[in-house]
Amino acid sequence: MALAMGSVAFLSMAPMAVAEPVAAPAVAPMSPQAALDDLKAGNRRFANDELREAKLGSKRRIQLSQAQHPMSVVLTCSDSRAAPEIIFDQGLGEIFVVRVAGNVGGPEVYASIEYAVAELKAPLVVVLGHSHCGAVATALKAKELPSYNLKLLIGLINVGENLPNNPEMALAAAIRNNVREQTLYLTQQSEIIRRAARSGQIMIVPALYDLESGHVTWGNPADRSLPEIVDAPADAAVAMPADVAK
Ligand SMILES: [Zn+2]
Repeated sequence: MALAMGSVAFLSMAPMAVAEPVAAPAVAPMSPQAALDDLKAGNRRFANDELREAKLGSKRRIQLSQAQHPMSVVLTCSDSRAAPEIIFDQGLGEIFVVRVAGNVGGPEVYASIEYAVAELKAPLVVVLGHSHCGAVATALKAKELPSYNLKLLIGLINVGENLPNNPEMALAAAIRNNVREQTLYLTQQSEIIRRAARSGQIMIVPALYDLESGHVTWGNPADRSLPEIVDAPADAAVAMPADVAK
């Protein structure tokens, strides 16, 4: 997709020269499904305490200074417990991360994802919510917020309708609804993302991260639906969710 991305070109400014240039590694284009499979495998390693040796060393760093080819874009919450590079067991340069409390969209968020899709050719976009999300919990409470900025942010969270009366179940449903809505907004609010999704250049997948088990549950890329497992009690048996993304 050839694009005139003047508004985001500043992000691809030439890197600073390094004393001993190291050639950027050759990168074969990855299919959306292969990128998704890679994140799934990484999350299984993380959840099972089988992290690989992370690609974080100086050699990798210098290689990446020449170019980046992230295999996926992850829009997720700023929550300190939901860091994508960690929960997907990835190294430097592998995930293009956009983080904002409540994993909500907005012009800056959509533009960042557009850049990753159009310029960096990342084949996969994941919208990742998580259990016990404080931002979504705040959106459920009708309480006064201390700043205009917070009101604006919380107002972007879409908790959905007809939530259960039980507070824990209501939060779980609201988190799920918000991920689904934020996923749908990507193609509604961005022509670049919409075209890339329609052409098959990218796949957009909703997902939920469970803080206790470490498992990510994957939603259906076709209708953006998500199974109901988030916010399971900590002592509940951890069941591998049905994998509906394949
Ligand atoms: Zn959160």
